[in-house]
Amino acid sequence: MALIVQKYGGTSVGTVERIQNVARRVKKRRDAGDDVVVVVSAMSGETNRLIALASEITDTPDPRELDVLVTTGEQVTIALLSMALQAIGCDARSYTGAQVRILTDSAHGKARISDIDDVRVHADLKAGRVVVVAGFQGVDEHGNITTLGRGGSDTTAVAMAAALKADECQIFTDVDGVYTTDPRVEPRARKLDRITFEEMLEMASLGSKVLQIRSVEFAGKYNVPLRVLSSFEEEGEGTLITFEEEGVEAAKISGIAFNRDEAKLTIRGVPDQPGVAYEILGPIGDANIEVDMIVQNIANDGTTDFTFTVNRGEFAKAKAILEQIASELGAREVIGDDKIVKISLVGVGMRSHAGIASKMFETLSKEGINIQMISTSEIKISVVVDEKYLELGVRALHEAFGLDREEG
Ligand code: ADP
Ligand code: ASP
Ligand code: MG
Repeated sequence: MALIVQKYGGTSVGTVERIQNVARRVKKRRDAGDDVVVVVSAMSGETNRLIALASEITDTPDPRELDVLVTTGEQVTIALLSMALQAIGCDARSYTGAQVRILTDSAHGKARISDIDDVRVHADLKAGRVVVVAGFQGVDEHGNITTLGRGGSDTTAVAMAAALKADECQIFTDVDGVYTTDPRVEPRARKLDRITFEEMLEMASLGSKVLQIRSVEFAGKYNVPLRVLSSFEEEGEGTLITFEEEGVEAAKISGIAFNRDEAKLTIRGVPDQPGVAYEILGPIGDANIEVDMIVQNIANDGTTDFTFTVNRGEFAKAKAILEQIASELGAREVIGDDKIVKISLVGVGMRSHAGIASKMFETLSKEGINIQMISTSEIKISVVVDEKYLELGVRALHEAFGLDREEG
């Protein structure tokens, strides 16, 4: 007998019929003799709908109240799924994050899980029940409801699996696994049978939203066997997230990630002297704005240009701060562009293969795509390009690196 944690995302519980379908799947697993804990998201579109309601009242909702609001989405799903399970003769009980109890810090909207009290869950499992847990939410030490960031139900599932020492954590979604790139952008994308934690972490942090970054971090850290599967197909092994295997020749490139959520800022003609990077990025960091890529140019007139990227949602705020800094530093001007995207190649095989970067640049140049910024690490290369080239760039690279699915 195994203990399995299954997570079903928004699309998979998007209608009553789909919730009933999930119930059937869960019951099948339970009938096979396994203990099952199910984590669910809000019905698709619900979290966005709730956020939109808040924004009808204010542009700056109190983070505590916003968390109270958005967590209702998952509370609806856990109750409906438990009812659907009971209706087909499968004993089940639902719990909100606070009830379980999933203890987090107090960072509303991006809280981190610090502890899970699994006593109730174990008692229910022992009594033969399926336990249904609301994803995405927890409670802080003062009893305030918190949320784990968008896509956070993945992290709830992995954290539950770690706390319960589950045999496997299965993420059921609307695709049947992790693909070489988002199949919505490149229909020729190929499903991967396996991908390493390290690669999955890069893919997630570079924009592939199939798994929330923290869920991958968590699974790697606590050694949770993690699998991505389709909730709509009965068969299939999905994609297993694994540790790198010795002796197995790694593919040069495992996948292509992209992020449309980028914006670029440049401050021109700042004095080229010690402390300038700090004077520019200090206030940006103080405003809690995350900076991604950074480029500083050499200049020969004693001044330099400094460019960095931020999340598109924080572009206006970052630009206003940078304009203030520019006037203090006597810089020439501030220019910004929020019509950019980042495309990244990811693969542990890059470590042992030279020439990946030049092939990437050659491929993009053949398509007439101008590269605005470049950043590399051991297992990834990222470029910033104009957003209108996203699809073209991804597809050209997908083909050039032999990632296309074989037809037929
Ligand atoms: P859920 O609601 O189940 O959590 P998400 O929308 O968060 O589902 O994640 C699934 C989606 O992730 C897919 O529909 C797909 O478009 C997207 N996606 C992005 N990159 C990839 C990738 N490399 N492999 C598979 N899916 C991807
Ligand atoms: N419902 C939340 C969201 O839309 C959490 C999740 O689906 O994982 O972000
Ligand atoms: Mg998701």
